[in-house]
Amino acid sequence: MGVSQFARSIAESPTLALNEQARLLREQGEPVVHLGVGEPLNRAPQAAIDKGTAALHGGKIKYSPTTGLASLKQAIIHYTEEHYGRTVAPRNVIVTSGAKQAIFNALFAILDAGDEVILLAPYWVSYPEMVKMCRAVPVVVSPEPGSLEPDVARVEAAVTSRTRAIVVNSPNNPSGMVYSPDFVGSIVRLCEERGIHAIMDDIYHKLVFDGVTAPSCYDYTRLETDQSHLIVVNGIAKTYGMTGFRIGWAIASREIVGAMSKIQSQTTSCVSSLCQVAAEGALLGPQDEVETLRRAMQHNRDVVVEELGKLPGVRVTKPKGTFYCLPDFSHYLKPGIAANSFELSMFLLNKARVVTVPGRDFGLEGHLRLSYAGSTVDVLEGMRRIRWALDASEPREIEIGGRTLVREWA
Ligand code: GLU
Repeated sequence: MGVSQFARSIAESPTLALNEQARLLREQGEPVVHLGVGEPLNRAPQAAIDKGTAALHGGKIKYSPTTGLASLKQAIIHYTEEHYGRTVAPRNVIVTSGAKQAIFNALFAILDAGDEVILLAPYWVSYPEMVKMCRAVPVVVSPEPGSLEPDVARVEAAVTSRTRAIVVNSPNNPSGMVYSPDFVGSIVRLCEERGIHAIMDDIYHKLVFDGVTAPSCYDYTRLETDQSHLIVVNGIAKTYGMTGFRIGWAIASREIVGAMSKIQSQTTSCVSSLCQVAAEGALLGPQDEVETLRRAMQHNRDVVVEELGKLPGVRVTKPKGTFYCLPDFSHYLKPGIAANSFELSMFLLNKARVVTVPGRDFGLEGHLRLSYAGSTVDVLEGMRRIRWALDASEPREIEIGGRTLVREWA
């Protein structure tokens, strides 16, 4: 009885575990401020709600084709044309249960046991575990100390005869960095030359700030999609704040989509047809809500960076996209507070009821990921509490949820 050794070796998603912990604490009446999970607060776009409601009232919610409803695929093809200037065929598109399942199914489709996948630290928490679930080996390439930007030479040096893919996530979760055109171009070309897949996790591609554009991988290849090594992953969760609908997709060669489809047909059959219809509404409806969300996130980014500037010893690189930042808190890893980023995150949760995610889960110790996807009020309150908890020059007492707390440790 019991679970396998292998299942035991897979870690739980820390972002979702912390989300659950915050929910439970809130249920117990604790005044938790959530700078943990990356989930915007907005309502789904009206066009998505209308389409989904109409489908629900129609009462016939049936299986869709395994790779997705033809009409949603057309909407995704339209998105790909409009956003990347790339025309793809329906056979190059597969709809998945969130971008997460697209990445997993893509890995499962290309990996044999013992193959290697290069991940660029800081990387998103689920990549290493997904690679391991495919019985393959994650190979982490870290940036130069003090930098959050990956380095092409280091990536190149990590390629071996077992390398099957490099995962690129830009704008990056957790750092908010937008990788340079040079970097994206070099990786796309490197993969092409060496016969490696480039899995482009572009889920934050439209959430960019200060007029920056996230470079498109398609600008660096002449290969037709059916010959291409590119697997481009997207979804509606972040751009439209439709996290719970779980609609993502991948654009890839017919061969890769075919393999992903087989995997999907034997596991989930297809993605919820109701949510697929709602996603169509989001993609084809008015896009002003995307801009509203983007502006709100840019404003929160400014607030969080300004507030972090008031904390002595903390260094942060100003994010150019997403709704995360990854400040370096190593200054506060000291006796009486915390020995590592996990302990620091727990310290802030226990002492100040602020949820953060430890940098070590993203492959970068000494840092904390702060999500500013919530309200500006929450961002300000979270930062007020973090300063109080860590900085001895702040007043010793603080009001949190009607209680006065006294700092006894600094
Ligand atoms: N991608 C989000 C985050 O990093 C959602 C959590 C998850 O799916 O793991 O916070």
